[in-house]
Amino acid sequence: RAKKLGRNQAQFYSEELDREVRQRNRIEQGLKKAIKNNELRLYYQGKFDAVSGRLMGMEALLRWMHPEDGLLGPDAFLPVAEEIGMMEDIGNWVLYTALKQTRAWQLLLADSGQALPVAINLSASQIGGESLSDKIKGALDLSGLPPQLLELEITENALIEEPKQLARELEQVVALGVTLALDDFGTGFSSLEHLRHFPIQVLKIDKSFVATVNKDDKGCRLLSALINFARGFDVIAVAEGIETEEQAKFCRDRGCDLLQGYLYSKPLTVEEFEQNLIRPLLSLSRH
Ligand code: C2E
Ligand code: MG
Ligand code: MG
Ligand code: MG
Repeated sequence: RAKKLGRNQAQFYSEELDREVRQRNRIEQGLKKAIKNNELRLYYQGKFDAVSGRLMGMEALLRWMHPEDGLLGPDAFLPVAEEIGMMEDIGNWVLYTALKQTRAWQLLLADSGQALPVAINLSASQIGGESLSDKIKGALDLSGLPPQLLELEITENALIEEPKQLARELEQVVALGVTLALDDFGTGFSSLEHLRHFPIQVLKIDKSFVATVNKDDKGCRLLSALINFARGFDVIAVAEGIETEEQAKFCRDRGCDLLQGYLYSKPLTVEEFEQNLIRPLLSLSRH
């Protein structure tokens, strides 16, 4: 009987594995055509001033409109893209698409005297190359977007390997006038010592800390400490994943500069973002 059960289990596992391999292959095959077939999308999520609630900029977040599976988030396909060496192509598409869009919004807003910077996420493999600053400069020149309207978000874990070379590369990027943000701050494996060597101007405090407000005392104290840390270190503090009024108040009261999360706005399509968040700025009087 045990033998039979064992065989059934083995069969079960191999079917499960089979299914996973097939699904992965399907994503892989689809991904190879996704750019050409125009299936990638950038959604935009606003970042808001913690005190005034004003829109201060936006983060570009990648989606894939899969022909059969519908809209997929980055976690569903970026790991596969990394594995099959497609991250560079996808990253370039993100860079050019976001810069072009942000330039269009800059022109739309020009008469109102306002300008909104865009933040783009870069994975470790994207900043590992030697020519990051050349690539960024090329995209800025092509789009006509001033470097002051571009922010790059990288995670702590992306800084672990070759920190010296990376620091040099990122210095060159910052020398262009681009802003560098550390994403998911507090969740990575890097040492704080890195902060001394990297030209970081913004710390994005991970949503896992924000989620502890009114739930877990120790988590709240950590969130407080992280906001204080950013202030003491003289960088801009952004709290991500703000879903409730209580979380917003907690971060605001402790001096967090910017808030981002579903409470203010979900990631939106270009059309929705323009309609809901950009157009209203046009009717505001110029100060
Ligand atoms: P991230 O950069 O930390 O982005 C924040 C994530 O939190 C996004 O998930 C966003 O949709 C989600 N989020 C925003 N507000 C809230 C909220 O109030 N509550 C909750 N629960 N979640 C919220 P998303 O879009 O699934 O992206 C996941 C990650 O994928 C990003 O994390 C980023 O690391 C990566 N990613 C996204 N777009 C790109 C891209 O173009 N290139 C690269 N290399 N990575 C990207
Ligand atoms: Mg991010
Ligand atoms: Mg984050
Ligand atoms: Mg994240």
